[in-house]
Amino acid sequence: MHKNQLEPSMFEADLDENVPFDKLREECGVFAIYGHPEAANLTYLGLYALQHRGQESAGIASMASTGKPGRDLYNHKSMGHVADIFSPEVLGRLPGDMAIGHTRYSTAGDTVLLNAQPFSVACNKGKIAVAHNGNITNAGELRRELEQEGSIFQASSDTEVILHLVARSREKTLAGALREALLQLEGAFSLVFLAEDRIIIARDPHGFRPLALGQMEMPDGAVCYVFASETCAFDLIDAVHLGDVEPGEMVIVSKEGMTRERYAPVRAHAHCAFEHVYFSRPDSMVFGRSVQESREMLGRLLAQLHPVDADIVVPVPDSGVAAALGYALESGIPYNLGLIRNHYVGRTFIEPSQAIRDFGVKLKLNPVRALLEGKRVILVDDSLVRGTTSRKIVRMVRNAGAREVHLRISCPPTVSPCFYGVDTPSVAELIAANNTTEEIRRFVEADSLAYLPLSGLREAVADHNHDYCYACYTGNYPTDLVNIKELMAAKDRRA
Ligand code: AMP
Repeated sequence: MHKNQLEPSMFEADLDENVPFDKLREECGVFAIYGHPEAANLTYLGLYALQHRGQESAGIASMASTGKPGRDLYNHKSMGHVADIFSPEVLGRLPGDMAIGHTRYSTAGDTVLLNAQPFSVACNKGKIAVAHNGNITNAGELRRELEQEGSIFQASSDTEVILHLVARSREKTLAGALREALLQLEGAFSLVFLAEDRIIIARDPHGFRPLALGQMEMPDGAVCYVFASETCAFDLIDAVHLGDVEPGEMVIVSKEGMTRERYAPVRAHAHCAFEHVYFSRPDSMVFGRSVQESREMLGRLLAQLHPVDADIVVPVPDSGVAAALGYALESGIPYNLGLIRNHYVGRTFIEPSQAIRDFGVKLKLNPVRALLEGKRVILVDDSLVRGTTSRKIVRMVRNAGAREVHLRISCPPTVSPCFYGVDTPSVAELIAANNTTEEIRRFVEADSLAYLPLSGLREAVADHNHDYCYACYTGNYPTDLVNIKELMAAKDRRA
C-alpha cells in the first residue's frame, strides 16, 4: 500500500456495501469534547439532544489525550437511534478524555452502516477520526482526481475525500495538512476531528451549517471545551454557549489550550435559512439567533401578509407549532392543537392486509374532532415539498368536520434542491417548481393557500447583511455552478 494510502482503522467496522457516490444526503448533527474524563458519556448526551438532526445512524469515537503516541482510537457506530445504540457497556468501551460524535439521517436506499460516522483511519498523520455535517459540492471532482492517483475509497460519503486529502498532504503536521485539505473543499462543512493529542474543529468559509462552541467548568476548576451543531446539546450537559466557530475558522484544542485561526479567506456568509424554518430545535441559538424567535416571527409575518377570517389556528405538529403560535398571536384567532402527533412511531409497522387509506400519515397524526368540527381552520406548516403529506393532512382535517381549511406555509415555495446538507428531492418532484400556487392549492385540496415571501423570511431570521443562503427558494446557489449542475443532474437521474 502506498504510504499515503489510507488504511482502514482496525476499529472500523468491516463493511462491504458499495453505494454509488452520488447517493449523498447528509442531514446530520456533530459533537466534540476535549479534556473530560467522561468524554464519551457526554458525547452520548450531546447526540441525544441532536437526535432530531438525523435518526438513521449514530457513532462516537474516543481517545485519551495523554500517554504514548500510537494510543488506541475507539469507534462505535451503528444504525438506529442514539439511545438504542449506546448502552452503558458500549460507552464503557469508549474510554478517553476526548471524543467526537455524529448522528446521521439519510433517505431510503442509502441506509448503510458503511456511511455511518465518525470515520476513523490510520495514516501518516497518525490515527484520526472525523465527523461531518454538510455536503461537499466538489467531492465528485476531488474523488475522481484522487482515484486516478490511486486512492481507494471505502464508503460513498463525501467526508472520506477529506481524509484522503489529509493523508496525501506533504505538510508535516495534521493541522497543516488539514488547512491544505480544507482549502480544496467547496460547499458545506462543519467538521470535528479527533487526533492523537487534540481535537480540531472547522467550518466552511460560507458558514452554511451551524457549529457552536461551549465551555464546561470541571470540579477542579479546569475548563473543558465542547462543540455541537446546536446549543440544545450544551443545555443538557450544563455547558455554557460561548459563541460560534466562525465561517472559515479552525479551532484546535490540546493540552496547550484552545487556539483559533482563520484558515480561509473571507467569503460571503451563506447560513442555511432552513435551519430556522424547520431543521434546528426551537430551543437552540443558531447563527446568533433564537430559532423559536425566528419561527414565531415567521408566523406573525404570515398572518400580517396573508390573513384569513377563520375560527381556529392549528399547527401541523411538530414542524408548524411555533409559526402557528405566531400566526395566532398576530391575528388574534385562537390557537389549539387540532392534530395530535404520536411520538412513538418506529421505523417499521405492520399494516393490515386490507390497506388503510393514508395509513402512514394516520399513524403519525390524528385529528381532534371536537376542536375541528364545523370550524374554519387555518392550518400552519413550515414547508411544502412534494405536497403529498399536506394533501393528506388537509383531507384529514376536513374529514374531521372542518368547514374550511386554509393552508399557510411559513417559508417561500421550495423550487430548487439543496446541495449543502438538507435532503430535498429533485426539481421534478418539487411541487412548487412545476406548479402555480393556485395549482398547488387545488392539489392539496385547501380552500386557500399562501406562502411567506422571501422578504418575510429574511426579516424573520434578522438577515440584515445578506448572510443567509436561500437557494432552495430562489435557485441562486452561492458556490460554483458547474459542480451544482453535476449534482443536480445526478439527483434528476435518481428521481
Ligand atoms: P411534503 O410536502 O408532502 O413533501 O412534506 C412536507 C412536510 O415535510 C412538512 O411537514 C415539512 O415539515 C417536512 N419536511 C420538509 N423538509 C424536510 C426535510 N428536509 N426532512 C424532513 N422533513 C421535511
